[in-house]
Amino acid sequence: MISIDGSTGEGGGQIFRSALSLSALTQTPIRISKIRGKRRKDGLLRQHLTALRAMKEICNAKVTGDTIRSTEVFFEPGKIKGGDYAFEIGTAGSTSLVLQTLLWPLFFADRASRVEISGGTHNPMSPPFEFLKGAFLPAISELGFKAELELQAYGFAPAGGGKIVASIAPVTALETQHFDHTIDAKGILFTIIGQGLPKHVAFNEKKVFEESMPGYQKEVRILNVHSQGSGNVVLAEIKNSPFPFIAVEFGQRGNAAEKIARKLVNAVEKQIEKGQPVGPHLADQLIIPFALAKGGSFQTNALTPHTLTQIKLVKLFTKINIDIEKKSKKEVHLHFS
Ligand code: ATP
Repeated sequence: MISIDGSTGEGGGQIFRSALSLSALTQTPIRISKIRGKRRKDGLLRQHLTALRAMKEICNAKVTGDTIRSTEVFFEPGKIKGGDYAFEIGTAGSTSLVLQTLLWPLFFADRASRVEISGGTHNPMSPPFEFLKGAFLPAISELGFKAELELQAYGFAPAGGGKIVASIAPVTALETQHFDHTIDAKGILFTIIGQGLPKHVAFNEKKVFEESMPGYQKEVRILNVHSQGSGNVVLAEIKNSPFPFIAVEFGQRGNAAEKIARKLVNAVEKQIEKGQPVGPHLADQLIIPFALAKGGSFQTNALTPHTLTQIKLVKLFTKINIDIEKKSKKEVHLHFS
C-alpha cells in the first residue's frame, strides 16, 4: 500500500485524482490523507467525490471515506472493467477533470468504453471541453491513446447542466514521442461562446480579436449556445501540427469584455514568443501518459507546481525516470526513461 499526503506539493484536487488513476493502473491500494489540504475549503468536493465513486465502479474497488468533505480515503482497486458508464457530478464541477481521472485505467480495460459525464463543461481553472478535445486528445493520440469526445450540452459555472460523452478504445500499442518542435503558428481561430449575454459583450470581444495580431491568418467566430445558465468563454487556438495550442479566458460580470479578450490575445502572443505547443497546463496533463509510454520527451515553457507534483506522484507508483532539463527561463525539457 502507498500512503500519500494530499496536502503536499500543489496540494489540491489533482494529486487526489492522479493518485486514483495510478492506483487503478498499477493495482496498488492507497491511503490518501489531508485531501486538498492546501485549499481553504479542504476535503472532497462534488467533482472529486464523483471521480472517486466513478473509479470505484470502474475497478470494483474497496473504498472508505467516500463522502463529501472527506479528508481521508482508502482505495483498493480490483480489475478494471470497460463498458458503458454514466456519472453525474450534481454541480457545475468539471466534467473534464473527472474524465481525465478515468481515462488512464479505461485505456487499459478489457474492452472499449463509453462514458457520459454530466456537470460543468467550461469551468475556470479546469480544461474546457475544446481544450480536451482539440489539444489534449490529439497530443495523447500521438502516443497511442485513442479516444473521441463529444459535447452534448454546454454547462457553465455556476449553473452546470452540461454533458460530455467519451468513447475510449483500449490501447493496442504505445509509442514514445518527442514533442520538441517549436510552434508553427499556421493560423489562429478565436471562438466566442455565449449564452444569455448582452449583445455588446460578443461584439466587443470580436472587435478586439479582429484588431489584434495583424499579420496572422485569423478567423473569428461567435457561437450562441443553449445552456441552463448564462456564460461567456473566449478561446484561441493556434493551429499547429500535430496538435494546436489552446488558451481560454472566462467572461465575468463586472469585468469588461475587451479586457477578457485582450488577456486572451496576450496569452497567445506570449505562447508564440515562447515557442512551445505544450503550454503549462498541457504539460502537467502529459506526465501520466508519457510515463505510461515509458519514454520520450517534451518541451514546455514553465514548470508549474501541478507539473512538479505530478512528477513526484508518478515516481511513487512507477520506476520511470523523469529528468528535468532547464534550458532557459522560457524553455524546459522533460525526458522520460
Ligand atoms: P482544487 O483542488 O484547486 O479546487 P481542482 O480539483 O478543481 O482544484 P486542480 O487540482 O487545480 O483542480 O487541477 C486543475 C487541472 O486543470 C490541472 O491539470 C490544470 O493544468 C488544468 N487547467 C486549469 N486551467 C486550465 C486551462 N485554462 N486550460 C487547460 N487546462 C487547465
